Formats: sequence, C-alpha cells, structure tokens
Amino acid sequence: MIDLSTLNPPQREAVITTEGPLLVLAGAGSGKTRVIVHRIAWILQQGNPATSVLAMTFTNKAASEMRERVGQLVSSRKSKELTLGTFHAFGLHLLRQEHKRIGYPRQFTIADAGDQAALVKRAMREVKIDDRSFDPRRILGLLSLAKCEGIQPGEPIARPGRPTIHGEEYELVAEEVYPRYESALRAMAMVDFDDLIGLPIKLLREHQELRDRLNDRFRYLLVDEYQDTNRTQLELLKLLGLPRGNVCAVGDDDQAIYGWRGAEVENILRFHLHFPGAKEVRLEQNYRSFGNILDCANEVIAKNEARKVKALFTERGGGEKVRVVTCPNDEAEARFAVGELRASIAGGRRPGDHAILYRTNLQSRAFEEVLRAEGVPYEVVGGTEFFDRREVKDLLAYLRLFVNNGDEVSLLRIVNFPARGIGDATMEKVRHRATVEALPLLKAMRKAAAGAWPEVAPAAGRIQAFVEIVDRYSNRLVEGEPASRLARELCEEVDLRGAIASQMTSAAAASRRIGLIDETLVSLERFEAREGKKHSLAQYLAQLTLDRRDDEPALPGDRVVMMTLHAAKGLEFPVVFLAGLEEDLLPHKGIQGGPQDLPEERRLAYVGITRARERLFLTRSAARLSRGKEVPRTPSRFLSDLPGHAIEEIDIAQPTEASELRSETFFDELLARLESR
Ligand code: ATP
Ligand code: MG
Repeated sequence: MIDLSTLNPPQREAVITTEGPLLVLAGAGSGKTRVIVHRIAWILQQGNPATSVLAMTFTNKAASEMRERVGQLVSSRKSKELTLGTFHAFGLHLLRQEHKRIGYPRQFTIADAGDQAALVKRAMREVKIDDRSFDPRRILGLLSLAKCEGIQPGEPIARPGRPTIHGEEYELVAEEVYPRYESALRAMAMVDFDDLIGLPIKLLREHQELRDRLNDRFRYLLVDEYQDTNRTQLELLKLLGLPRGNVCAVGDDDQAIYGWRGAEVENILRFHLHFPGAKEVRLEQNYRSFGNILDCANEVIAKNEARKVKALFTERGGGEKVRVVTCPNDEAEARFAVGELRASIAGGRRPGDHAILYRTNLQSRAFEEVLRAEGVPYEVVGGTEFFDRREVKDLLAYLRLFVNNGDEVSLLRIVNFPARGIGDATMEKVRHRATVEALPLLKAMRKAAAGAWPEVAPAAGRIQAFVEIVDRYSNRLVEGEPASRLARELCEEVDLRGAIASQMTSAAAASRRIGLIDETLVSLERFEAREGKKHSLAQYLAQLTLDRRDDEPALPGDRVVMMTLHAAKGLEFPVVFLAGLEEDLLPHKGIQGGPQDLPEERRLAYVGITRARERLFLTRSAARLSRGKEVPRTPSRFLSDLPGHAIEEIDIAQPTEASELRSETFFDELLARLESR
C-alpha cells in the first residue's frame, strides 16, 4: 500500500485524480516528480496492469532516477513492466517494432552528430554549395529545428512570425539540403535523433489500427519536465493520449531551457487547449532547499516577464547563507571548489552529495585537473569525449557497418583503415559507379570485386577481401554470435591495435590509444552482461547515440558529479557549486538567437540554484585565460539580483597572501571538524 500521508493535500489530489487530463504546474523542488512517481504506484494499486502505464521524461538520467523511485514503491516485477523512459527511447522502441511499416530493416541505426555532419556536407556538395561559405553545423541545426517543428522536406523552413536564426540565406540553403539529407539517411537505413519522434507520429497517423492498439494499451500517460517538450513531442503525446485523455503532465515554465532545441513553453501554458477539460493543480511548498537558497532563486527568476508567477515557500528555515565567491582566475575557482569539497567530505558527506554545475562543457577541464590531482573521485556527465576519440570511432564504425550494411559513412571511415590498399581515388571511382547505377556502396564494391569495372580492376582483389570481412562478420552477427566476441576477433584479424600503434610516435601514446579500444570492448561486454545477448549490438549502438545526446553517464560508485546546467534538470544535491557566474558565460553570449535568449539564460541560472538542498556556492573568476592571456571578466548580471540577506560574499581575487590565508582557513576548519567528530 502506498502511503498518501507523505504527500501534502494538492500533491495527494494530483496523485489520485487519475481519470482525465491533469496539469501540475509548479516551481522547482515542489514535488512534481514525486507526484508522478506516487501516481504510478497509485494507478497500479487500483488494479491496473503495469503495461497500461507510459511515463516519459527528458533525459536518460531523469528516467533512470524515476524508475528507481518507483521501484521503492512497487514490486520490482511490476516496475520492470512499466514503459518508462525518454520520448526518444519510446520512439526508438516503437520504430523497431514497426520498422516494416516505414520501410526500414529491423536493424536500422541512429545517425550520430558525426554522421549527420557528413550527410549534410555531402548534400551540400550535391547542390554545389560551398561548406566554407555556409557552416554545415548551422545547416544541421536548422534542419533539426525544422524537424522538431514538423516541417517536411520540400516545405519552406522559414516560418512567418519567427525570427530567422542565421539569416534568410541560411534558411534557403537548409531548404535545399533537406530533401537530399533525408533521402541519404533513408538510403543508408538510418534515422536521426529527430526522426525518433517524427516517424512514430507518421506511423500513428497512417495506421489507425496501430493507434487503436496503443491507445488501448497505454491507458495512463505521464510526462515529467513538460515545459521542455517541442511541437512534435506534443503531437506524439496527443496521438497516444487524447482518445482516453488520461494524460498527466507536470512541469515548470520557469525551467524551460531547451528553447534552442525547439521546445515550446506554450505547450505547458496551453495544456487545457490541447487536452480539453484539463484540471490544474498548483504546488507551492518547496521541500528541497533551505530558505536562503530559495530566496536567491525566487529573486533571480522574478526578473523574467511573461511567466506564470508562482509563490514558493519552504518550511526548512533559512539555513546557511549562499556563498558568492570571486576568484582571481579559473584555476583558482577550481581550487576553491575542490578545497570546499574536500572539507565537506572530511566533515562526513559522501562525494556523490556534491555537484559542480556549469554553463558550458569547456568549463569542466579546470575542475577535472584539480579533482584528479587531489584524488577526489568524480564523473563528468556527458561531454566526455571518450566516444569521440578516433580509435573508438574506428572500432564502432566496423560494428555499425556489420549491423547495418547500408551505413556508408562508417564504411568510408574504415574501408582503408587499417590500410589495405583501397585508397581514396579507388573509392571515388566506386562511388561514382554507385551513383550512376543507383547502387548502395557495398553492393557497388561487390561488383567492383567481381571485375565489372575496368577503372577499379587493379584493386578488385583487395576490395574483395574487404567485402568478405564485412559479409562474414555481418552473417555471424545475424546468426546470433555475441557482438563482443566478434569485436575482439575483428580487432585481431585486421590488427587494429597494430595500425593504431604504427600511427603513434611514442610507445606511451600508442598504449594509451590502444587502451581506448580495450575500454570499448569492455563497455560492450558490460552492456551484454546487463541486457542479455539478443540484438544487443544494435541496441548498444543506439544507446550510445541516445545517451550522448542527453548527456548521460554510466559510471557506478560514489563520485562528485560534474555537468552542464542543461543536464542537471530535475536532479538535486545537498551541496552545489555553480561556476562561472560571469557575463558571456551565464548569461551566455552569441548562441543562436543572441540577446533574446536572456530569459532562457535566467531560467538556466534558476535551474542551477534550485538544484541545491543545503549549501550553495556561486563562483566566478575575475579573469580567464584566453589565447594565452588573462582576460578580465565581468560579474554576471544575475549576481546583482541576489537578496543581500541571503548571501555572504567572499573575495579571494586578492594577491596570493589572501588566497593562502584562505586555504589555511580550510585546513583549520578541516581539523576542527575532524576533532569534533
Ligand atoms: P524539479 O522542478 O527540480 O524537477 P520537483 O518539483 O520535481 O523539482 P521533486 O524532485 O519531486 O520536485 O521533490 C523535491 C524534493 O522534495 C525531493 O527530495 C522530494 O522527495 C521532496 N518532497 C517533495 N514533496 C514532499 C513531501 N510532501 N514531503 C516530504 N518531502 C517531499
Ligand atoms: Mg522534477
């Protein structure tokens, strides 16, 4: 039996009002996620099967935390039967089941950012647009936005009433590239991240009986972080949930931070229009943070216009003051944070009770260096470059090609790595033939191997050997051999390690790079051990792509957590360091949309502040190193919004004596704390 007495009256109402649409619009830390979790348990307790519940959220990290919280309330068998995950994971699941209806093989793969960039560049070449005049990444950003807005290839990308992001010319180029990009994806049996929502919508629109089946099955829909849904996610939700209307959405318009990715905060403000008859519940008590922290958050967000004003209060008392710390430079900022961290750990907190949050991934480096030097266990959520390393990508390209023989980006990546005498000139000729005869590249290579074309005849034997490798491993995969074993054998057979070593000038560098290959193999093995062996490679690759989009980690253990503000949404920590409170960093400058993003930057600051339960540090550097020079930095405008009574200002940006003095205080404090235990 779930205990409803652990909920306040409006929370309870939100939990037990299971029939009909319901919106919980409430501020940070007011128990919205707690409502979702208890509501799931309540639905099951009313005798509904776990399979009738579909719960969606935004990041993988939030999803796994939700599952864990549900797991504390219901049996583990039931919790396993729930459909609970991100929108994209749900979309992927549906596409795998229904792949035939959209004309894809079951083992289609997901294009990662690198694949997408390659396809955009190729499409640009086809329409004779120079990728030095137009930045392919910007084009890709526009395509993604268009897809999130439900714009089809061939339709205009510019929307009346929406300001252009990179100028009209860019939109015209994107419009021209869009259909080619789409058909290239399709030809390679690939979908991109946005397709994971767009294609399910198409499926549900076109197949009434599938829609009926899903409507019949998923009788209760729940969505967390609703303020960050975009147009297509809303559409998907409507298709799945409207007939019955048991849709519960929770969110906070003040935490809408994905506008740059096409999220529309109007979705939450107009919930009652999309889901007629919706009830609304407001939660006003914050259970997370001490009063001083909450006061800071409230003041910072109050400056935003056009928001639903929420009164948030806490009964936890003021607590410690929020420390606003000025440091001489970013290195000192990191040393300050790590000093405080160590004192806190010495005082009895676990490393995992602490989070270091920042606006951009670049800021993590300074902190990482000090944490490593001081031996404090930490993990960087997302932004880890591991899967971007060349060696890792090379191995994965082989695996991706085995799963999906249509994946030309991967094929071209490894066709001559390790070197096997199939050079660029040869491949250019094969590609030309492939285009002319409208053949997939691997098929064209088969034909070349059979001696069909004189211009590549000299390489026929070598091409044959390559095709043979691809076929052999692909077949073994289809026959169900564990991917990890195949991957190990492949590394031996093609001597991947030797090829890597021969590119390195020092033995140390070589062994580090080879280590990356071994780590990849271990990560695949771990995945198989966890998930079982069936279809595991395709799933493994899909998960890599999805997780990385969402900034998700996989490190077990008790560690200090470092991540961007975007990744921190929905999470909470006893101690939070919010770093880099400087103009041009928070608020960030020069991202898409320029100055009109100020409200979103303010919401990001609000999200960061409200992650803290007990202790909060807001740090900034007076100068940062840029191209070898220390450049002075201006304090963030958000700092001047903080209420004086709630903060304590600390300035260590003085000459070195002062900072030494400061570190002695740490030491004294530490000793005092140790003695008092
Ligand atoms: P965010 O907007 O950041 O996602 P949220 O509204 O989802 O926050 P929760 O994470 O659900 O808030 O709750 C914040 C904290 O308050 C959690 O630790 C939760 O367990 C606690 N909490 C919420 N409601 C209650 C309650 N009625 N009694 C005790 N603790 C509560
Ligand atoms: Mg939440």
